[in-house]
Amino acid sequence: MMMNKDIATPSRTKQIIKKYGLTMKKSLGQNFLIEPNILTKMLAAGEIDKDTVVIEIGPGIGALTERLAQSAKQVIAFEVDRRLEPILKTELAPYDNVEIIFQDILEANLPELFASRFEPTDRIVVAANLPYYITTPIIMNFIEANLPVDAYVMMMQKEVAQRMTASPNSKNYGSLTIAIDYYTEAEISFIVPKTVFVPQPNVDSAVLRLKRRETPKVVVTNEDFYFRLTRGAFQHRRKTLWNNLMAIFGKSDEAKEALRVGLEAVGIEASRRAETLSIEEFAELANELFKSDVLKNA
Ligand code: SAM
Repeated sequence: MMMNKDIATPSRTKQIIKKYGLTMKKSLGQNFLIEPNILTKMLAAGEIDKDTVVIEIGPGIGALTERLAQSAKQVIAFEVDRRLEPILKTELAPYDNVEIIFQDILEANLPELFASRFEPTDRIVVAANLPYYITTPIIMNFIEANLPVDAYVMMMQKEVAQRMTASPNSKNYGSLTIAIDYYTEAEISFIVPKTVFVPQPNVDSAVLRLKRRETPKVVVTNEDFYFRLTRGAFQHRRKTLWNNLMAIFGKSDEAKEALRVGLEAVGIEASRRAETLSIEEFAELANELFKSDVLKNA
């Protein structure tokens, strides 16, 4: 019997699209992978083996899902587009270790999924060729929930991956870098050219590998305050830290005085720009400013 080619090939993808009369929805970020080597590299980056349970986000027509099913112990995939149900059911029929849940991943109860479906000994990896319009909320939802995920292997727009892994004093460094670095160690595994998708997107992609930190990178007194401060500090990148902080905390004399005292206590010049501050400096500053009732309640 002739073996079917991988779903992630131009000919098989074309054949599936034709067979089911599928039209891809741009609004759902539907760009399907047609290059099996990319998947081989993704599997290697996630160290996917028969002891690994994988949560996949957005299986599409099953390009990555198929390869995961062959290499992992079990795959649970979340897909929002119900039109893909007959396709996935038929094309992935040879694999009995795949379950597709037709639900928006942003509405999934992740802690409940983990409690009910996984053993404490399972090695869990989240893998995805992400729908690009919601890359950040998907990742933040997972990492903020502090789930026992061993690693994340996520394909996304190259620019977003660069922002998530940037260093201080670079144009890509910002509040997203800080949020990601707080919870995880992140690195770009490899760059993916836009030519390996159908339809072809306008930009290149990158595969990002995130590893959850056992404890956050820095100690902060109040996480909400810390993230509010870091987001606000980068609001207008060309403005000074002082101007951005005033925009967060207000321009009352009390707030100004508390800010001046706080900055001085941690030795950070008000004339600096946010992109020059390290994550440790942001944490120190947040912890110092949080001591002030005026700023804390602003
Ligand atoms: N994994 C396939 C591949 O690599 O060819 C498809 C990737 S495509 C970039 C993104 C997929 O995510 C699409 O199938 C889309 O329908 C799905 N998707 C979009 N929004 C979603 C959401 N909120 N929850 C779950 N899946 C979603």
